[in-house]
Amino acid sequence: MSDIASITSKVKKRAEELTKPGASLLELATELENYIVEQGARPAFPINISIGEIAAHYTPSSDETTKIGEKDLVKVDFGIELDGLISDNAVTFDFSGEHGNLVEAAEAALATALSTIKAGTTIKEVSKAIQDEIKGRGLKPIANLTGHKIEGHILHAGVSLPNVAVNDSYVFKEGDIFAVEPFVTTADAAGQVVDTDRVEIYSFVMKPNLRMRESRILLNYIEENYGTLPFAERWIEKKVPSKLLLLASLKELLRTHAIQAYPVLREANGKPVAQAEKTVVVEKDGVTTLV
Ligand code: MN
Ligand code: MN
Repeated sequence: MSDIASITSKVKKRAEELTKPGASLLELATELENYIVEQGARPAFPINISIGEIAAHYTPSSDETTKIGEKDLVKVDFGIELDGLISDNAVTFDFSGEHGNLVEAAEAALATALSTIKAGTTIKEVSKAIQDEIKGRGLKPIANLTGHKIEGHILHAGVSLPNVAVNDSYVFKEGDIFAVEPFVTTADAAGQVVDTDRVEIYSFVMKPNLRMRESRILLNYIEENYGTLPFAERWIEKKVPSKLLLLASLKELLRTHAIQAYPVLREANGKPVAQAEKTVVVEKDGVTTLV
């Protein structure tokens, strides 16, 4: 556990050094992904860099020229996979100086959740604690983005930890691994995210019969290299001879449910979103944080 925790700390520090106005999203993502590999681990999913009202699932494409703006609210979400363990983490940078309350609320809600979780507490109690912390600051949690249980190579292992109070009687057990991730927006926001048309991230689902040779080659490559963990289009595009064939293959893989898409998510009212995330192991009297 200590190895993945120390690598996570190093990556977080690197993200804090590299994330600044003027930085290219593509360079930032690839530098952090390479840095994870240099530490002897691998990215559990593409580095997500989501700005402003974009809440999650944004990773740059290979030809992206976007740079971080002078006043951007930037969420960097990164995952580390080492020896079958995954840690999932996020940090928000406010370069506007106007959204400090959102960032502080996300961090405070995370701290409150981590001080509430121990063997025997329930999702009902923790989700209410997160909601109360955020609402008590006059802000709104995002209702349809949640923390999640992690099991081995499975990033979302079927149990969700919502950021709004829910009547879920799931009891935390010693040894459970959970990613806890409050998302906070303004009081006049919808408090919900919606899909956009942009997709850069996918994951393997199953192996159906495929007509195109390129689709079969691509799917084998995906399964061998990423298992069911999410991957970026820019990670696989060189495996197909042309952009046109890549798009046709992805289309077939999606149509046959061989892979699933993770559309970029934005706040439904276009309001700014902050996020804090850590991964913890549940203990008898509290949690051990994997960072
Ligand atoms: Mn997560
Ligand atoms: Mn995450």
